[in-house]
Amino acid sequence: MKNFSKRLCKQPKTIQRTFDPSVSLHRQGFILSTSLKWVNSTEIKYLFIEGDEPQKNVVRTGFKVWKDLGIGISFKEVTRVEDSMVRIGFDYTDGSWSYVGREILNIPAAEKTMNFGWDLTADSYGMTTAVHEIGHTIGFQHEHQSPFSGIEWDTDAVYKEFSGPPNNWPKSEIDSNIINKLPANQVKGSSWDPKSIMEYEFGPGLVLQPAEYKKGIFPPGILSANDIQGVKSFYPVVAEKSIVKLQLHKSVQIKAHTGGQDDFIFTAPSTKKYTFQTVGDLDTVMVISEKAKSENHYLAGDDDSGYEKNSKITLPLVKGRSYLINVRVMYEPATQSGSIIVT
Ligand SMILES: [Zn+2]
Repeated sequence: MKNFSKRLCKQPKTIQRTFDPSVSLHRQGFILSTSLKWVNSTEIKYLFIEGDEPQKNVVRTGFKVWKDLGIGISFKEVTRVEDSMVRIGFDYTDGSWSYVGREILNIPAAEKTMNFGWDLTADSYGMTTAVHEIGHTIGFQHEHQSPFSGIEWDTDAVYKEFSGPPNNWPKSEIDSNIINKLPANQVKGSSWDPKSIMEYEFGPGLVLQPAEYKKGIFPPGILSANDIQGVKSFYPVVAEKSIVKLQLHKSVQIKAHTGGQDDFIFTAPSTKKYTFQTVGDLDTVMVISEKAKSENHYLAGDDDSGYEKNSKITLPLVKGRSYLINVRVMYEPATQSGSIIVT
């Protein structure tokens, strides 16, 4: 049998969020389960902190592969670290990895959020790697760690395989990237997709069950039908007609429920600073972008989900220009409601 020899994505450990003691466990659960997903319509700004053009081009194409599916989020390359959300390195001593979804916003600006640990231009596995890591960046986790996979590993064989070359992982790395299953509320869909771009390739002799995968798992290395359907339901293109107009000093009720999102538009009547805030007992996250012809440009986000429940953003706007305000409801207590107002 051919030895398995591919180098695989090695994910960083998830950052454990801490909550104020006043935040109930019930609310924490909801916040954590929705926290990986970006607010839909976010323009995710990425920065290369190093690397040569051919390597960067593979990654740029990777972003385009996702965007071209027709999804609500978009990507923009920036050149200043203070503008960046995603920071990309090419350190070949560090493996390939990316933090997952909005967890990225918690990473200090001095640190990268994604790394490529091998030459992306060597063969087609380079593009597979780029699309896979960007999949993490937009909120997807490893498919083989889905709690719905039903995979039973030959753990001794898995430890032996991945502790050796070319991956050379310690046991803790093998556990967190392969053996451990993810919490059910952090995976898309409710079934396992062995053809997913988020699935590793596994050689023979590592899977005990389901029996058909004893010979290995060989995903094609491109987006699967389920990946495409999954990302489109995760980030649907926001229909113009579902966007609610906001007017100065007039509050509008937020109708979305936990995990859902309401979208608003505001045209500035004069050039000055405006404050957008949610009021009431909902726990919300807010993102504001300037609406442009072909795409929207991210301006500001309030990521205070947790203790400070409401979102509030003050920023200068230009007369006659239109701004999109996207509000994600992280948690909606029973019988409570909230609204948004611009002043
Ligand atoms: Zn990965």
